[in-house]
Amino acid sequence: MTDRFDAVVAGAGPAGAQCARDLARRGHDVVVFETEPEEEFPRQSNKSTAGTFPSMLSSFGIPDDVVMNYTDDVVLESPNGHFVRDQPGAVLEFADFKRYLVRDGREQGAEYRFDSRVSKPITENGEVVGVRYDGDREAYADVVVDATGPAAPLAKALDVVDLERENQAIGVEYEMEGVDVEADGYADLTDAMMLRLDHEYAPGGYSWIFHTGGDTAKVGLCYLQNEAHREYARDGMGIDDYLQHWLDTDPRFADAERIEGEVHRGSAHVQLPGEMSTDGFMAVGDTVPTVDPLWGEGIHTCMKSGRAAAATADRCLMLEEVDTSAERLSVYDDLWHRDVAPSVRTRLLMTRLLYLASNERYDELMADLSRLDGDTLSEANDGNPRAILRLLHLGDLPLLARFAREQLAR
Ligand SMILES: Cc1cc2nc3c(=O)[nH]c(=O)nc-3n(C[C@H](O)[C@H](O)[C@H](O)COP(=O)(O)OP(=O)(O)OC[C@H]3O[C@@H](n4cnc5c(N)ncnc54)[C@H](O)[C@@H]3O)c2cc1C
Repeated sequence: MTDRFDAVVAGAGPAGAQCARDLARRGHDVVVFETEPEEEFPRQSNKSTAGTFPSMLSSFGIPDDVVMNYTDDVVLESPNGHFVRDQPGAVLEFADFKRYLVRDGREQGAEYRFDSRVSKPITENGEVVGVRYDGDREAYADVVVDATGPAAPLAKALDVVDLERENQAIGVEYEMEGVDVEADGYADLTDAMMLRLDHEYAPGGYSWIFHTGGDTAKVGLCYLQNEAHREYARDGMGIDDYLQHWLDTDPRFADAERIEGEVHRGSAHVQLPGEMSTDGFMAVGDTVPTVDPLWGEGIHTCMKSGRAAAATADRCLMLEEVDTSAERLSVYDDLWHRDVAPSVRTRLLMTRLLYLASNERYDELMADLSRLDGDTLSEANDGNPRAILRLLHLGDLPLLARFAREQLAR
């Protein structure tokens, strides 16, 4: 059985669903293939803590009813310190959010086919012209978008991405009740998203408590499986053991219990993207990969990449003679670097350096953050080298030397 569309999107995550929403709104004939069955959607793909910021909600018209809790602060924590920044945010119910994107996309005219697993691209004369799904079924389109997250069956087959295990961050989280968000000796986590740098619990990564109202919170951790992780990891411990160790030893969880069935896990690659498009094809979201290396914020960046791909495809499909050649679609790569993740290279380096630092250095970092003004912090977070230098000490020289050696080895 064959079908023909203007655009085929593989994967109904934030990136693919947003791309389909935008294309449908522009009047294009778009179909989204999603591997999970609709009755259970999202099941395995319900993976995200879904902490985000008002700019995402307003840019993409996301309604309040998918927000579990509006937050006021972002808190950074180290083993013996913390830093509080007044910054409004929102913790979404990720499953409701994904279902909303599908519903709204359909209202705009996009077609969704659930329980439909895309397996490979169909090419003619080196150009992508469609996809094979559910075994031998085929769908043809002027432009094909891989938005399947790290699975990336199309982008991998086309050699558009090379996702490396060394750069794969893995994460797990539980939704919990009975969490003490106002515990003595810690920052007040009421209506806050807290990220903790502490190798005891997340070697080579970070852990988090995102308040979801009352005594409930999302509690999780993630780490990259790289040198920093190997240096700080304990023998025989896997990611679930680290989360359990945190739950067993942090007094804020003394009376806490897991909410049944509410466990989220997944992975994302943290590496520099290469090419993101070729003839008739674009890769978006975590397939590229697009998640922010430093703090794992992927929803907003993935939505932006879906929008950049839709804008590029729209331009190609509106030409008098449709042209989705690699040259035309490379505009998407430019938009990605300009609008989606402008300082990705610096942020990647900052991430590798940050996760190499010791717990003692994390305590110092909290003190440094409290001493610096808000503008410098924003600039450092945006990758401004001068602002980052203000966070470094003379005592960091051995760390920087090691970092430089590891970068050269890469
Ligand atoms: C534990 C964890 C916590 C996170 N917390 C946050 C956070 O707090 N804030 C934030 O902004 N980001 C967070 N992220 C990152 C964010 O969730 C991701 O960056 C984002 O979901 C990626 O969107 P995507 O659309 O690219 O891919 P995905 O969300 O992975 O969606 C891909 C979709 O494709 C489908 N699919 C896969 N293979 C196929 C196939 N072969 N055929 C058809 N369909 C297929 C999947 O079922 C899925 O629905 C977190 C990630 C993890 C793992």
